[in-house]
Amino acid sequence: MTDNVRVRFAPSPTGPLHMGGVRTALFNYLYAKKHNGTFVLRIEDTDQTRYVANAEQYIIDSLEWCNIPFDEGPGKNEKFGPYRQSERKELYKQYADELLTKGWAYYAFDTAEELDAHRKDHEEKGKTFIYNWHNREKLQNSLALSEEEVQAKIAAGEKYVVRFKTPQDETLVMQDEIRGTISVNTNTLDDKVLFKSDGMPTYHLANIVDDHLMEITHVIRGEEWLPSLPLHTLLYKAFEWKAPKFAHLPLILKPVGKGKLSKRDGDKLGFPVFPLEYKNEETGEVSRGYKEDGYFADAFINMLALLGWNPGTEREMFSLNELTKAFGLKRVSKSGAKFSPEKTKWFNQQYLQLKSNTLLANLFVPMLAEKGIEREIGYIEKVVSLIKERATFVADFWELGGFFFENPTEFDEKAVKKQWKEDTPAIMEELATVIENIEDFSSKNIEALVKEWIAAKEIGMGKVMQPLRLSLVGALKGPHLFDIIEMIGKEATIQRIQHAVSNL
Ligand code: GLU
Repeated sequence: MTDNVRVRFAPSPTGPLHMGGVRTALFNYLYAKKHNGTFVLRIEDTDQTRYVANAEQYIIDSLEWCNIPFDEGPGKNEKFGPYRQSERKELYKQYADELLTKGWAYYAFDTAEELDAHRKDHEEKGKTFIYNWHNREKLQNSLALSEEEVQAKIAAGEKYVVRFKTPQDETLVMQDEIRGTISVNTNTLDDKVLFKSDGMPTYHLANIVDDHLMEITHVIRGEEWLPSLPLHTLLYKAFEWKAPKFAHLPLILKPVGKGKLSKRDGDKLGFPVFPLEYKNEETGEVSRGYKEDGYFADAFINMLALLGWNPGTEREMFSLNELTKAFGLKRVSKSGAKFSPEKTKWFNQQYLQLKSNTLLANLFVPMLAEKGIEREIGYIEKVVSLIKERATFVADFWELGGFFFENPTEFDEKAVKKQWKEDTPAIMEELATVIENIEDFSSKNIEALVKEWIAAKEIGMGKVMQPLRLSLVGALKGPHLFDIIEMIGKEATIQRIQHAVSNL
């Protein structure tokens, strides 16, 4: 096992964390825990134009809800801090300067308008403008201008950026822990900006410098960063630093059709793409979250773990601890993983069955309170034990078992038509008397005595049981009928039968 594994989750606080981001965080977390390593959170907020104030807290809250907290990060074990790139601002310039001195970077003075003009000009000729080896000597930069011209421009306060000088005619051979060997010809790369005219580093420079300074050993991130790998590899080479190992996770795909799962898919098909509800402070728009939609964090995490990773067996249910043991990059797939909202529900239903009745009852209490219902917790626990089998969410409990708390006021019309016959009221009245006289009011005993009476009367079981269920529940649904009778008690049972007789 590798010693001292240090991984990082490095989101940009530009909005709520997409579930793909949570999956990246999760895989980093699992990898760290598996190797007794450290899981670092770094906030990559160098792009001031896309900064969103409440996003960082949202990210931290999301990791917490998912139960995958970071070991090191903003406000926590700040050994390698600060962990917000905006607070490390002063530190990056010296690295840009180092690359300039070493000849791995150059000043570029081209204005946005000039670059735009080049782009348009290329487009008209059916070409794409790439700022790199084949035209950089003709543009406004320190490779094309004389030393004096460059110094004069800088002295005059002209705006400049620092660009990476990509080497020409080289084949880069890189290793990805998931994808294996990847080769790229450097002539296809553009000379990316490393340092911006506003004095801030770009993502590329800050990311590499920080991964180095924070002693990151493994970079585990989304596939969308794979195109940056050649530049990052070259940057490590330019700095003469040991590069971490890289692993690029497959995309999470739409449930139907092609492409990356987006918020729009969620809106269209009715599922959240964010872990927690998110309010856009600017537009006021509120996006749904898994938490608020009633998902258990462990179910959500279990589902996410299997998006792009498999244990090598058919097994699907994994606690976080079990995931930590089973996880490895070897079983992360190269191809995209289709997200399934149905499977996510299935996981929640499975996890709900594993929760204790006490916990579930306590989650049900506020929903009951909203309806003005207050019962002792022992009763609610019993109700939960009888209905949870059919529930996917705690929110289903009322639909599945509201009749344990309230007499039915409405009756399923179709069922009434089919089951409530002319002779039913008489049978029900007699049954009410039978029930009235039962002393030991346990489900088993009630069942035995009622069935005895049915047998003695020589009528069909259905002729009694179905109307009885209708009277007690209002529909032909619910758990074992005699359990219901025991639970609601003699008085309510008889009341309900009488109500049905006089109303149906
Ligand atoms: N800041 C990048 C992001 O938003 C980090 C990419 C990386 O992990 O290198 O995802």
